[in-house]
Amino acid sequence: MAYEAVIGLEIHAQLRTQTKIFCGCRTEFGAPPNSQVCPVCLGLPGALPVLNRIAVDYGIKAALALGCEVQPGSIFARKNYFYPDLPKGYQISQYERPLALGGGLDITVNGVRKPVRLTRIHMEEDAGKSLHEGFPDSDRRTYIDYNRSGVPLIEIVSEPDMRSAAEAAEFFSRLRAILVWIGVTDGNMEEGSLRCDANVSVRPAGQTALGTKAEVKNVNSFRYVEKALEYEIERQIEIVETGGRVVQETRLWDSSAGRTLSMRSKEEAHDYRYFPEPDLPPLVIDEARIARVRATMPELPEARSRRFVSQYAIPAYDAGVLTQSSALADYFEATAAAVNPKAASNWIMGEVLRTMKERGQEINVVPLRPPALAGLITLIEKGTISNSVGKDVFAKMYDSGRSAQEIVDAEGLAQIGDEGALTAVIDEVIRVNADAVAQYRGGKQQTFGFLVGQVMKGSKGKANPKLASDLLKRALG
Ligand SMILES: [Zn+2]
Repeated sequence: MAYEAVIGLEIHAQLRTQTKIFCGCRTEFGAPPNSQVCPVCLGLPGALPVLNRIAVDYGIKAALALGCEVQPGSIFARKNYFYPDLPKGYQISQYERPLALGGGLDITVNGVRKPVRLTRIHMEEDAGKSLHEGFPDSDRRTYIDYNRSGVPLIEIVSEPDMRSAAEAAEFFSRLRAILVWIGVTDGNMEEGSLRCDANVSVRPAGQTALGTKAEVKNVNSFRYVEKALEYEIERQIEIVETGGRVVQETRLWDSSAGRTLSMRSKEEAHDYRYFPEPDLPPLVIDEARIARVRATMPELPEARSRRFVSQYAIPAYDAGVLTQSSALADYFEATAAAVNPKAASNWIMGEVLRTMKERGQEINVVPLRPPALAGLITLIEKGTISNSVGKDVFAKMYDSGRSAQEIVDAEGLAQIGDEGALTAVIDEVIRVNADAVAQYRGGKQQTFGFLVGQVMKGSKGKANPKLASDLLKRALG
C-alpha cells in the first residue's frame, strides 16, 4: 500500500529588537551569562511587564508579509508549567486570541508550486537556557543563563498542508528567507533565532482522515528537518504496515544518531492551565498602525523577482536566484545599473556566489563590491580582455580591492587586438605546423580549430579570438 505523510510546522522566530518583550534588557546574543536580566525577566515578585512596541510592529510586519489578517484585538495569556529556565513558573504567550490569523506561503518542490496555508501567528516570550555541559561539575549540576528569558518571539503555525520531508524543508527555508528579507529576525539558526517543531502523521494515500500524529521537536536546520521527517515518516509507515498503532507523543530529533526518540507521551503532556495575563491589557491594533507598518515594508521577494524579469530582461530562473536575499538583489541591481544585466547576472550567479560559498561568506561582506564587478564586466564587453582572462582577473580582484583595469594594466593582460602583433604569432604558427597547414589546405577543415588553438596559445591566451580566426583564415588563403 502507498502511504502519504501529513506535515504541519510550528516555527519560532526571535524578533530582532534591541530589548526584550516585557522589559528594557538587551537581547544581544553571546553576552556573559545573566548579564542581561532584571526583576521582570527574572520573574521576581511584584515586577510588572510592559509590552515592547517594536516587537509588536515586527509581528505585524511578519503577518502582513505572509498575507495574514492582523487581529484588532489579541490577548496575552499565562502558560503555566514548571521548568528551571522559566523563573516565573509561567510563560506569557498568546493563546485563544493570537496576533494574526490565516495567510500562507507558496513553495516550489521539483518544479511543482503549491500553497501552504498558515493557521496563525502569535507572540510570546522566550525562556532562559539550561546549560548542561561545559562546567567542571556538569555531571552533578545544571547552570542557567537567563539572558534569553523574555526575548521576543513570534510563533508561526502552518496548516498540515505538506506531504513530504522535502516540502517541509522548503517551507522552512522560504519562511526564513522572507522573515530575514523584511528584517524582523536575523534568521541565525546556530544562535537559535529560528527553531522548528514538526507535527507529522501518515495515512494510506487517498484517505482523507488523518492518522495519529507525533510532534518532532527542535529540528533546527533545513537539513535536519528533512532528515528527521524522512526518518519519522518511515518509522510510522513501518508501525502501521506491521499492524501497530502510532502513539501520540512528543519526539526529539537526535542528529548524531540520525533518529527520533520518544520524549513524552500524551499521558504525560502538560496541562498548561492557560488564563489571560492580568498584568497586561488586551493588545489593540488599529488600521492606522497597520498602515504605518505596511509603509515600512520593502518590496517582497516574489514581486522583486517579477520586476527583475521585466525591467532587466533576465530569465525567471536568474531572477529567482538573485532574490534569495535582499542584499543579493541589491548587489545585482547596483551592478546591472552599469553594465548589461544578463552579464551581471551571469557573473553574480557564477563566480560571485561560488567564491562566497567557498569562503562561507554572506553577500554583504563580500569585499568585491558592485562598482568593481561592473568595471570587470565592462573590460570584457569592450573586448579589452576575454571572458576566460576575466575569471583570472576576478580571482585577483576579489579580496585585493584592486580594480580590473589596474590588474589588466599591471600584468599586461589586455587582448592583442592589434593586427601587427598577431600576424607575427600567426606566421610562427604556420611555420612550425607545416603538416597541419598542408592538411587544411588539402581540405581537412577540422585542422583549422587546432591552428586557432595554437595562435591562442602562442599569444598566451591574449589574442582576441575573433581577430585571430579572421587573420589566420586570411593567411592560409
Ligand atoms: Zn529584564
